[in-house]
Amino acid sequence: MLTWTDILEFAANGNPEPDREVRKSDDEWREQLTEEQFYVARQHGTERPFSSGMCELFEPGKYACVCCDTLLFDAGEKFDSGTGWPSFTQPAKENAISYHGDNSMGMTRVETLCNTCDAHLGHVFPDGPAPSGLRYCMNAVALKKVDDTEAIATFGGGCYWCTEAVFRSVKGVISVESGFSDGEVVDPTYKEVCSGQTGHAEVVQITYDPEVVSYGELLRVHMGTHDPTTLNAQGADVGTQYRSTILYRSEQERQVAEKLLEELSDTFESDIVTDVKAFEKFYPAPADHDNYYNRNPNQGYCQAVISPKIAKFRKTFQHLLNPDE
Ligand SMILES: [Zn+2]
Repeated sequence: MLTWTDILEFAANGNPEPDREVRKSDDEWREQLTEEQFYVARQHGTERPFSSGMCELFEPGKYACVCCDTLLFDAGEKFDSGTGWPSFTQPAKENAISYHGDNSMGMTRVETLCNTCDAHLGHVFPDGPAPSGLRYCMNAVALKKVDDTEAIATFGGGCYWCTEAVFRSVKGVISVESGFSDGEVVDPTYKEVCSGQTGHAEVVQITYDPEVVSYGELLRVHMGTHDPTTLNAQGADVGTQYRSTILYRSEQERQVAEKLLEELSDTFESDIVTDVKAFEKFYPAPADHDNYYNRNPNQGYCQAVISPKIAKFRKTFQHLLNPDE
């Protein structure tokens, strides 16, 4: 949780790195935004107080940057400050927002920007409710409300073609994307990842409806459809990019994962070697699948592996099968 001391520290000595960066020209922003959004978010303007219904909005969900869709606040951190501007006590993530000293208007204040695209959001003050004591005083037009109907999970269990195929048939799964995560190189190419030198793992990023399937159920499918006991390998695929991994996005997900690994430790003959780490970045795999098939000598293996995996999934997790499949 961020406190006023952290905010002053960021404003004085630099802000944490964002997960991603979005840069556009003023012309491009003008094209995308309304006149008022452009004035507030791109020209550091301030909307009139009490000009938005967002002040009285306390439904669950999240608030994202109107410019770049980065999630900035959870509705659970919103409170009624009586100021006429939507107010929050804490950002969604420590690196979601950047902080800058602002001496305009004859005041010394801390300006808040979206850390991803530098949109002006408003200011933060040390007079908010406990425990953080912070009041993020935001312009409603710089934010948009996002309903909490989708969640994302990221797992690695070897060759992502195999894992992707399994999760596509799970009920409540909206989409599955293959890619790389948890490495050291920014924007790696597929070839670089395959070299095993970038530190990335092949992963699937699963967008799902948490009202239909839970994070814990997805984890069970993940653990039940790959071998979590072989270090840096799945069958014939050997290399750190094939490691077994769970990349959590919240403390709650971390706890669910640790508990499940504990529970499953007796069901495997060898020790579980699955990594449980905080999710940082996801790089989608190249859309051009042909390259994969041409370059990957294990193609036959992969094909041979997918069908048994799906068969196993259908048998073990019948209650989680997508009824449309
Ligand atoms: Zn933004």
